[in-house]
Amino acid sequence: MCGSADPCRSKITTSGEGAVKMEFHLILLRYGELSLKGKNKAEFEGRLIRNIQQKLKEFPNVRITKEHGRMFVELNGEPSAPVMDKLKEVFGLVGFSPAIRVESKLESIQKAALQLVKNTNGIQTFKVNSKRANKQFPIPSLELNHRIGGYILANAQPIQVDVHHPDLTVHVEVRSKASYVYGNDIPGLGGLPVGSSGRVMLLLSGGIDSPVAGYLALKRGVELQAIHFHSYPFTSERAKQKVIDLARILTRFGGNIRLHVVPFTEIQTEINKHCYESYTITIMRRMMLRIAEALAKKNQALALVTGESLGQVASQTLESMQTINAVTHMPILRPVISMDKQEIMTIAKQIGTYETSILPYEDCCTIFLPKAPKTKPDQEVAEKLEARLDLERLIQEAVEGTEVIELSAEETDEFSYF
Ligand code: ATP
Ligand code: MG
Repeated sequence: MCGSADPCRSKITTSGEGAVKMEFHLILLRYGELSLKGKNKAEFEGRLIRNIQQKLKEFPNVRITKEHGRMFVELNGEPSAPVMDKLKEVFGLVGFSPAIRVESKLESIQKAALQLVKNTNGIQTFKVNSKRANKQFPIPSLELNHRIGGYILANAQPIQVDVHHPDLTVHVEVRSKASYVYGNDIPGLGGLPVGSSGRVMLLLSGGIDSPVAGYLALKRGVELQAIHFHSYPFTSERAKQKVIDLARILTRFGGNIRLHVVPFTEIQTEINKHCYESYTITIMRRMMLRIAEALAKKNQALALVTGESLGQVASQTLESMQTINAVTHMPILRPVISMDKQEIMTIAKQIGTYETSILPYEDCCTIFLPKAPKTKPDQEVAEKLEARLDLERLIQEAVEGTEVIELSAEETDEFSYF
Protein backbone atom coordinates (compact mmCIF):
# COMPACT_ATOMS: atom_id res chain seq x y z
CA MET A 1 0.00 0.00 0.00
CA CYS A 2 2.79 2.42 0.95
CA GLY A 3 5.10 1.33 -1.89
CA SER A 4 7.07 3.32 -4.42
CA ALA A 5 4.21 5.64 -5.43
CA ASP A 6 4.11 6.41 -1.71
CA PRO A 7 0.45 7.18 -1.09
CA CYS A 8 1.43 7.53 2.57
CA ARG A 9 3.20 10.78 1.95
CA SER A 10 0.69 13.46 2.83
CA LYS A 11 0.21 16.43 0.61
CA ILE A 12 1.06 19.41 2.77
CA THR A 13 -0.49 22.72 1.82
CA THR A 14 -0.11 26.06 3.52
CA SER A 15 -3.22 28.09 4.22
CA GLY A 16 -3.42 31.90 4.41
CA GLU A 17 -2.23 32.26 8.00
CA GLY A 18 0.77 30.05 7.45
CA ALA A 19 -0.75 27.05 9.25
CA VAL A 20 0.24 23.74 7.75
CA LYS A 21 -2.75 21.77 6.49
CA MET A 22 -2.66 18.10 5.62
CA GLU A 23 -4.95 16.86 2.86
CA PHE A 24 -6.79 13.65 3.48
CA HIS A 25 -5.81 10.60 1.42
CA LEU A 26 -9.06 8.74 1.49
CA ILE A 27 -12.60 8.68 2.80
CA LEU A 28 -13.71 5.73 4.80
CA LEU A 29 -17.29 4.74 4.01
CA ARG A 30 -19.85 3.16 6.32
CA TYR A 31 -22.95 1.48 5.03
CA GLY A 32 -25.76 -0.62 6.43
CA GLU A 33 -24.16 -4.00 5.85
CA LEU A 34 -25.28 -5.61 9.12
CA SER A 35 -28.64 -6.84 7.91
CA LEU A 36 -27.27 -8.02 4.57
CA LYS A 37 -25.90 -11.43 3.73
CA GLY A 38 -24.55 -13.40 0.78
CA LYS A 39 -25.84 -12.44 -2.63
CA ASN A 40 -27.81 -9.45 -1.32
CA LYS A 41 -24.72 -8.00 0.25
CA ALA A 42 -22.67 -8.33 -2.96
CA GLU A 43 -25.46 -6.73 -4.99
CA PHE A 44 -25.89 -3.93 -2.46
CA GLU A 45 -22.16 -3.19 -2.48
CA GLY A 46 -21.90 -3.36 -6.27
CA ARG A 47 -24.81 -0.97 -6.70
CA LEU A 48 -23.45 1.40 -4.06
CA ILE A 49 -20.03 1.47 -5.72
CA ARG A 50 -21.55 2.21 -9.15
CA ASN A 51 -23.72 4.99 -7.70
CA ILE A 52 -20.74 6.57 -5.94
CA GLN A 53 -18.64 6.35 -9.11
CA GLN A 54 -21.44 8.05 -11.04
CA LYS A 55 -21.73 10.75 -8.39
CA LEU A 56 -17.98 11.43 -8.33
CA LYS A 57 -17.52 11.46 -12.11
CA GLU A 58 -16.21 15.01 -12.09
CA PHE A 59 -13.23 13.92 -9.96
CA PRO A 60 -11.25 11.82 -12.46
CA ASN A 61 -8.55 10.60 -10.05
CA VAL A 62 -10.92 9.22 -7.44
CA ARG A 63 -11.11 5.41 -7.07
CA ILE A 64 -13.40 3.28 -4.94
CA THR A 65 -11.62 0.38 -3.25
CA LYS A 66 -12.54 -2.40 -0.85
CA GLU A 67 -10.16 -3.82 1.69
CA HIS A 68 -10.71 -5.90 4.83
CA GLY A 69 -14.47 -5.56 4.40
CA ARG A 70 -14.11 -1.78 4.32
CA MET A 71 -14.96 0.54 1.46
CA PHE A 72 -12.85 3.61 0.72
CA VAL A 73 -12.85 6.51 -1.67
CA GLU A 74 -9.19 6.92 -2.63
CA LEU A 75 -8.79 10.63 -3.30
CA ASN A 76 -5.49 10.44 -5.23
CA GLY A 77 -4.98 14.16 -4.80
CA GLU A 78 -8.61 15.26 -5.31
CA PRO A 79 -9.87 17.66 -2.61
CA SER A 80 -11.82 15.95 0.19
CA ALA A 81 -14.44 18.66 0.96
CA PRO A 82 -16.28 18.76 -2.41
CA VAL A 83 -16.08 14.96 -2.69
CA MET A 84 -17.75 14.64 0.72
CA ASP A 85 -20.43 17.16 -0.30
CA LYS A 86 -21.31 14.76 -3.12
CA LEU A 87 -21.28 11.73 -0.82
CA LYS A 88 -23.90 13.47 1.33
CA GLU A 89 -26.35 12.92 -1.54
CA VAL A 90 -25.79 9.16 -1.94
CA PHE A 91 -28.42 6.81 -0.51
CA GLY A 92 -27.01 3.70 1.13
CA LEU A 93 -24.19 5.48 2.95
CA VAL A 94 -24.74 5.58 6.70
CA GLY A 95 -21.70 7.76 7.29
CA PHE A 96 -18.15 8.50 6.26
CA SER A 97 -14.91 9.97 7.60
CA PRO A 98 -11.98 11.57 5.84
CA ALA A 99 -8.83 9.66 6.74
CA ILE A 100 -5.07 10.02 6.63
CA ARG A 101 -3.02 6.98 5.68
CA VAL A 102 0.48 6.65 7.07
CA GLU A 103 3.08 3.93 7.43
CA SER A 104 2.56 1.79 10.53
CA LYS A 105 5.17 3.54 12.66
CA LEU A 106 4.40 5.26 15.95
CA GLU A 107 5.94 8.58 14.99
CA SER A 108 4.03 8.78 11.68
CA ILE A 109 0.75 7.87 13.39
CA GLN A 110 1.31 10.49 16.09
CA LYS A 111 1.98 13.20 13.50
CA ALA A 112 -1.12 12.29 11.50
CA ALA A 113 -3.26 12.31 14.66
CA LEU A 114 -1.94 15.74 15.56
CA GLN A 115 -2.73 17.00 12.09
CA LEU A 116 -6.25 15.67 12.34
CA VAL A 117 -6.75 17.55 15.62
CA LYS A 118 -5.36 20.74 14.12
CA ASN A 119 -7.50 20.39 10.99
CA THR A 120 -10.74 19.91 12.91
CA ASN A 121 -12.31 23.24 13.76
CA GLY A 122 -13.82 24.21 17.10
CA ILE A 123 -12.72 21.33 19.31
CA GLN A 124 -11.70 21.62 22.95
CA THR A 125 -11.62 17.96 23.97
CA PHE A 126 -10.58 14.69 22.35
CA LYS A 127 -9.89 11.05 22.97
CA VAL A 128 -7.92 8.44 21.04
CA ASN A 129 -9.45 5.12 20.07
CA SER A 130 -6.87 2.73 18.64
CA LYS A 131 -7.41 -0.67 17.07
CA ARG A 132 -4.47 -2.94 16.41
CA ALA A 133 -5.52 -5.25 13.59
CA ASN A 134 -1.86 -6.10 12.98
CA LYS A 135 -0.80 -7.92 16.14
CA GLN A 136 2.87 -7.74 14.99
CA PHE A 137 2.76 -4.04 15.79
CA PRO A 138 4.76 -3.80 19.04
CA ILE A 139 2.54 -1.39 21.01
CA PRO A 140 -0.79 -2.65 22.41
CA SER A 141 -3.91 -0.54 21.81
CA LEU A 142 -4.22 0.97 25.27
CA GLU A 143 -0.63 2.07 25.37
CA LEU A 144 -0.97 3.39 21.83
CA ASN A 145 -3.93 5.53 22.95
CA HIS A 146 -1.78 7.04 25.70
CA ARG A 147 1.24 7.69 23.51
CA ILE A 148 -0.78 9.33 20.76
CA GLY A 149 -2.88 11.28 23.29
CA GLY A 150 0.28 12.46 25.09
CA TYR A 151 1.78 13.64 21.80
CA ILE A 152 -1.38 15.61 20.95
CA LEU A 153 -1.52 17.18 24.43
CA ALA A 154 2.11 18.25 24.15
CA ASN A 155 1.71 19.77 20.70
CA ALA A 156 -1.83 21.12 20.36
CA GLN A 157 -2.44 23.26 23.43
CA PRO A 158 -4.97 24.29 24.68
CA ILE A 159 -6.79 20.96 24.41
CA GLN A 160 -7.96 18.39 26.95
CA VAL A 161 -8.77 14.72 27.04
CA ASP A 162 -12.39 13.75 27.68
CA VAL A 163 -12.96 10.01 27.41
CA HIS A 164 -16.74 10.23 27.91
CA HIS A 165 -17.96 13.07 25.66
CA PRO A 166 -15.07 14.24 23.49
CA ASP A 167 -15.61 16.82 20.73
CA LEU A 168 -13.36 14.67 18.55
CA THR A 169 -12.54 10.98 18.65
CA VAL A 170 -9.24 10.27 16.92
CA HIS A 171 -9.64 6.79 15.46
CA VAL A 172 -6.47 4.88 14.70
CA GLU A 173 -6.46 1.58 12.85
CA VAL A 174 -3.10 -0.13 12.66
CA ARG A 175 -2.82 -2.61 9.80
CA SER A 176 0.21 -4.36 8.40
CA LYS A 177 0.58 -2.39 5.19
CA ALA A 178 -0.51 0.99 6.53
CA SER A 179 -2.35 2.68 9.36
CA TYR A 180 -5.43 4.87 9.12
CA VAL A 181 -6.18 7.92 11.21
CA TYR A 182 -9.63 9.44 11.03
CA GLY A 183 -12.01 11.63 13.00
CA ASN A 184 -15.70 11.90 13.72
CA ASP A 185 -18.28 10.18 11.59
CA ILE A 186 -20.09 12.49 9.16
CA PRO A 187 -23.66 11.23 8.80
CA GLY A 188 -24.79 10.09 5.35
CA LEU A 189 -28.37 9.78 4.08
CA GLY A 190 -28.77 6.12 5.06
CA GLY A 191 -31.35 4.08 3.18
CA LEU A 192 -30.58 1.71 0.29
CA PRO A 193 -28.60 2.37 -2.90
CA VAL A 194 -30.83 3.73 -5.68
CA GLY A 195 -31.56 0.96 -8.16
CA SER A 196 -31.52 -1.88 -5.65
CA SER A 197 -35.31 -2.09 -5.19
CA GLY A 198 -36.85 -1.96 -8.67
CA ARG A 199 -38.47 0.88 -10.59
CA VAL A 200 -41.43 3.11 -9.62
CA MET A 201 -43.44 5.93 -11.20
CA LEU A 202 -43.81 9.10 -9.15
CA LEU A 203 -46.87 11.28 -9.78
CA LEU A 204 -45.12 14.61 -9.64
CA SER A 205 -47.18 17.79 -9.30
CA GLY A 206 -45.62 21.20 -8.82
CA GLY A 207 -46.49 21.14 -5.10
CA ILE A 208 -44.48 20.58 -1.95
CA ASP A 209 -45.50 17.00 -1.15
CA SER A 210 -44.80 14.90 -4.22
CA PRO A 211 -41.09 15.81 -4.61
CA VAL A 212 -40.63 14.85 -0.95
CA ALA A 213 -42.49 11.59 -1.59
CA GLY A 214 -40.12 10.94 -4.50
CA TYR A 215 -37.08 11.61 -2.33
CA LEU A 216 -38.33 9.23 0.37
CA ALA A 217 -39.06 6.52 -2.19
CA LEU A 218 -35.50 6.93 -3.54
CA LYS A 219 -34.26 6.45 0.01
CA ARG A 220 -35.60 2.91 -0.04
CA GLY A 221 -33.53 2.14 -3.12
CA VAL A 222 -36.03 2.48 -5.96
CA GLU A 223 -35.17 3.80 -9.39
CA LEU A 224 -37.51 6.68 -10.19
CA GLN A 225 -39.39 7.84 -13.23
CA ALA A 226 -41.91 10.69 -12.94
CA ILE A 227 -45.25 11.57 -14.51
CA HIS A 228 -46.73 15.04 -14.71
CA PHE A 229 -50.24 15.83 -15.96
CA HIS A 230 -50.16 19.09 -17.82
CA SER A 231 -53.21 21.07 -18.97
CA TYR A 232 -51.83 23.59 -21.41
CA PRO A 233 -53.05 26.34 -21.93
CA PHE A 234 -55.03 26.19 -18.65
CA THR A 235 -51.65 25.72 -17.02
CA SER A 236 -48.65 27.61 -18.39
CA GLU A 237 -45.31 26.52 -19.84
CA ARG A 238 -43.77 27.89 -16.67
CA ALA A 239 -45.80 25.44 -14.59
CA LYS A 240 -44.30 22.64 -16.68
CA GLN A 241 -40.81 24.08 -16.36
CA LYS A 242 -41.28 24.14 -12.59
CA VAL A 243 -41.93 20.39 -12.60
CA ILE A 244 -38.87 19.79 -14.82
CA ASP A 245 -36.84 21.79 -12.30
CA LEU A 246 -38.21 19.73 -9.41
CA ALA A 247 -37.41 16.46 -11.17
CA ARG A 248 -33.92 17.75 -11.88
CA ILE A 249 -33.37 18.47 -8.18
CA LEU A 250 -34.35 14.85 -7.48
CA THR A 251 -31.64 13.65 -9.91
CA ARG A 252 -29.10 14.78 -7.31
CA PHE A 253 -30.27 11.86 -5.18
CA GLY A 254 -31.70 9.55 -7.82
CA GLY A 255 -29.40 9.72 -10.83
CA ASN A 256 -31.02 10.05 -14.26
CA ILE A 257 -34.80 10.54 -14.22
CA ARG A 258 -37.22 10.06 -17.10
CA LEU A 259 -40.11 12.53 -16.85
CA HIS A 260 -43.35 11.81 -18.72
CA VAL A 261 -45.46 14.90 -19.40
CA VAL A 262 -49.03 13.80 -20.14
CA PRO A 263 -51.39 16.10 -22.09
CA PHE A 264 -54.38 16.40 -19.77
CA THR A 265 -56.34 19.31 -21.24
CA GLU A 266 -58.93 17.32 -23.14
CA ILE A 267 -59.59 14.96 -20.25
CA GLN A 268 -60.13 17.83 -17.85
CA THR A 269 -62.40 19.62 -20.31
CA GLU A 270 -64.47 16.46 -20.85
CA ILE A 271 -64.78 15.81 -17.11
CA ASN A 272 -65.95 19.37 -16.52
CA LYS A 273 -68.45 19.15 -19.35
CA HIS A 274 -70.03 15.82 -18.35
CA CYS A 275 -69.62 15.22 -14.61
CA TYR A 276 -71.02 16.79 -11.41
CA GLU A 277 -68.78 19.52 -10.14
CA SER A 278 -68.39 17.83 -6.75
CA TYR A 279 -66.97 14.72 -8.47
CA THR A 280 -64.52 16.39 -10.85
CA ILE A 281 -61.51 15.92 -8.55
CA THR A 282 -62.36 12.26 -7.86
CA ILE A 283 -62.73 11.44 -11.55
CA MET A 284 -59.69 13.45 -12.52
CA ARG A 285 -57.62 11.49 -10.00
CA ARG A 286 -59.03 8.20 -11.27
CA MET A 287 -58.00 9.20 -14.78
CA MET A 288 -54.52 10.11 -13.53
CA LEU A 289 -54.14 6.68 -11.96
CA ARG A 290 -55.33 4.83 -15.06
CA ILE A 291 -52.85 6.71 -17.25
CA ALA A 292 -50.08 6.35 -14.67
CA GLU A 293 -50.68 2.61 -14.56
CA ALA A 294 -50.48 2.36 -18.36
CA LEU A 295 -47.23 4.34 -18.43
CA ALA A 296 -45.82 2.36 -15.51
CA LYS A 297 -46.46 -0.91 -17.35
CA LYS A 298 -44.98 0.47 -20.56
CA ASN A 299 -41.82 1.42 -18.66
CA GLN A 300 -41.56 -1.71 -16.48
CA ALA A 301 -42.31 0.14 -13.24
CA LEU A 302 -43.75 -1.97 -10.43
CA ALA A 303 -45.52 0.63 -8.30
CA LEU A 304 -46.84 4.20 -8.28
CA VAL A 305 -45.78 6.84 -5.75
CA THR A 306 -47.86 9.86 -4.72
CA GLY A 307 -47.47 12.76 -2.30
CA GLU A 308 -50.80 12.09 -0.60
CA SER A 309 -51.06 12.80 3.12
CA LEU A 310 -54.09 11.50 4.97
CA GLY A 311 -56.74 14.12 5.64
CA GLN A 312 -54.80 16.97 4.04
CA VAL A 313 -57.44 17.82 1.41
CA ALA A 314 -60.81 16.47 0.25
CA SER A 315 -59.31 13.91 -2.13
CA GLN A 316 -57.09 12.52 0.62
CA THR A 317 -59.69 11.10 3.00
CA LEU A 318 -59.72 7.30 3.31
CA GLU A 319 -63.10 7.10 1.55
CA SER A 320 -61.81 9.23 -1.27
CA MET A 321 -58.60 7.23 -1.59
CA GLN A 322 -60.61 4.03 -1.73
CA THR A 323 -62.77 5.31 -4.61
CA ILE A 324 -59.77 6.69 -6.47
CA ASN A 325 -57.60 3.63 -5.80
CA ALA A 326 -60.26 1.26 -7.11
CA VAL A 327 -59.22 1.83 -10.75
CA THR A 328 -55.82 0.17 -10.35
CA HIS A 329 -54.34 -3.02 -8.93
CA MET A 330 -50.87 -1.55 -8.83
CA PRO A 331 -49.34 -0.93 -5.42
CA ILE A 332 -49.40 2.79 -4.57
CA LEU A 333 -46.65 3.96 -2.25
CA ARG A 334 -47.47 7.05 -0.19
CA PRO A 335 -44.30 7.89 1.71
CA VAL A 336 -45.71 11.08 3.32
CA ILE A 337 -49.10 9.60 4.23
CA SER A 338 -48.70 10.14 7.99
CA MET A 339 -46.74 13.36 7.94
CA ASP A 340 -47.98 16.81 8.88
CA LYS A 341 -47.47 19.58 6.33
CA GLN A 342 -44.81 21.06 8.59
CA GLU A 343 -42.79 17.84 8.60
CA ILE A 344 -43.04 17.57 4.82
CA MET A 345 -41.96 21.18 4.45
CA THR A 346 -38.92 20.58 6.66
CA ILE A 347 -37.74 17.78 4.36
CA ALA A 348 -38.54 19.86 1.26
CA LYS A 349 -36.24 22.59 2.60
CA GLN A 350 -33.48 20.10 3.42
CA ILE A 351 -33.48 18.54 -0.04
CA GLY A 352 -33.78 21.86 -1.86
CA THR A 353 -37.21 21.48 -3.53
CA TYR A 354 -39.15 23.88 -1.29
CA GLU A 355 -38.16 27.15 -2.98
CA THR A 356 -39.19 25.79 -6.39
CA SER A 357 -42.39 24.20 -5.08
CA ILE A 358 -43.71 27.45 -3.66
CA LEU A 359 -43.38 29.35 -6.95
CA PRO A 360 -46.93 30.51 -7.67
CA TYR A 361 -47.67 28.68 -10.94
CA GLU A 362 -51.02 26.96 -11.06
CA ASP A 363 -51.44 23.19 -11.13
CA CYS A 364 -54.08 21.36 -13.15
CA CYS A 365 -55.84 20.44 -9.88
CA THR A 366 -56.29 24.02 -8.82
CA ILE A 367 -57.75 25.48 -12.00
CA PHE A 368 -60.97 23.48 -11.93
CA LEU A 369 -61.20 23.27 -8.16
CA PRO A 370 -64.85 22.67 -7.25
CA LYS A 371 -66.43 24.88 -4.55
CA ALA A 372 -67.46 21.81 -2.54
CA PRO A 373 -65.50 18.70 -3.50
CA LYS A 374 -66.92 15.39 -2.19
CA THR A 375 -65.00 14.18 0.83
CA LYS A 376 -66.70 10.77 0.65
CA PRO A 377 -67.14 10.13 -3.06
CA ASP A 378 -69.04 6.99 -3.95
CA GLN A 379 -67.42 4.50 -6.32
CA GLU A 380 -70.66 3.65 -8.14
CA VAL A 381 -71.50 7.31 -8.72
CA ALA A 382 -67.99 7.86 -10.08
CA GLU A 383 -68.40 4.89 -12.44
CA LYS A 384 -71.80 6.16 -13.68
CA LEU A 385 -70.37 9.59 -14.41
CA GLU A 386 -67.40 8.07 -16.19
CA ALA A 387 -69.77 6.12 -18.45
CA ARG A 388 -70.51 9.50 -20.06
CA LEU A 389 -66.89 9.77 -21.17
CA ASP A 390 -65.06 7.98 -23.96
CA LEU A 391 -62.60 6.57 -21.42
CA GLU A 392 -60.60 4.26 -23.65
CA ARG A 393 -59.96 6.86 -26.34
CA LEU A 394 -59.09 9.58 -23.83
CA ILE A 395 -56.59 7.35 -22.02
CA GLN A 396 -55.04 6.03 -25.22
CA GLU A 397 -54.60 9.51 -26.68
CA ALA A 398 -53.09 10.82 -23.46
CA VAL A 399 -50.60 7.94 -23.33
CA GLU A 400 -49.71 8.32 -27.01
CA GLY A 401 -49.34 12.10 -26.74
CA THR A 402 -47.02 11.90 -23.74
CA GLU A 403 -43.79 13.84 -24.06
CA VAL A 404 -40.74 12.14 -22.57
CA ILE A 405 -38.01 14.29 -21.06
CA GLU A 406 -34.72 12.67 -20.06
CA LEU A 407 -33.10 14.42 -17.14
CA SER A 408 -29.49 13.56 -16.53
CA ALA A 409 -27.84 13.97 -13.18
CA GLU A 410 -24.86 15.81 -14.67
CA GLU A 411 -26.25 17.96 -17.43
CA THR A 412 -28.18 21.18 -17.13
CA ASP A 413 -30.07 20.71 -20.41
CA GLU A 414 -32.83 18.22 -20.89
CA PHE A 415 -33.86 16.62 -24.16
CA SER A 416 -37.36 15.52 -24.96
CA TYR A 417 -39.21 13.33 -27.46
CA PHE A 418 -42.74 12.12 -28.07
P1 ATP B 1 -48.41 18.20 -3.92
O1 ATP B 1 -47.77 19.16 -3.01
O2 ATP B 1 -47.54 17.02 -4.22
O3 ATP B 1 -48.96 18.85 -5.15
P2 ATP B 1 -50.94 18.35 -2.76
O4 ATP B 1 -51.05 18.44 -1.31
O5 ATP B 1 -51.10 19.57 -3.56
O6 ATP B 1 -49.60 17.62 -3.12
P3 ATP B 1 -52.94 17.09 -4.36
O7 ATP B 1 -52.92 18.23 -5.30
O8 ATP B 1 -54.22 16.65 -3.76
O9 ATP B 1 -51.96 17.24 -3.15
O10 ATP B 1 -52.31 15.86 -5.09
C1 ATP B 1 -52.10 14.63 -4.45
C2 ATP B 1 -51.06 13.87 -5.22
O11 ATP B 1 -51.54 13.60 -6.55
C3 ATP B 1 -49.78 14.65 -5.42
O12 ATP B 1 -48.93 14.55 -4.31
C4 ATP B 1 -49.22 14.00 -6.65
O13 ATP B 1 -48.59 12.78 -6.33
C5 ATP B 1 -50.48 13.71 -7.46
N1 ATP B 1 -50.73 14.83 -8.40
C6 ATP B 1 -51.54 15.89 -8.24
N2 ATP B 1 -51.52 16.69 -9.33
C7 ATP B 1 -50.68 16.13 -10.20
C8 ATP B 1 -50.22 16.46 -11.52
N3 ATP B 1 -50.63 17.56 -12.15
N4 ATP B 1 -49.35 15.64 -12.12
C9 ATP B 1 -48.91 14.52 -11.49
N5 ATP B 1 -49.30 14.15 -10.27
C10 ATP B 1 -50.18 14.94 -9.62
MG1 MG C 1 -50.77 19.62 -5.80
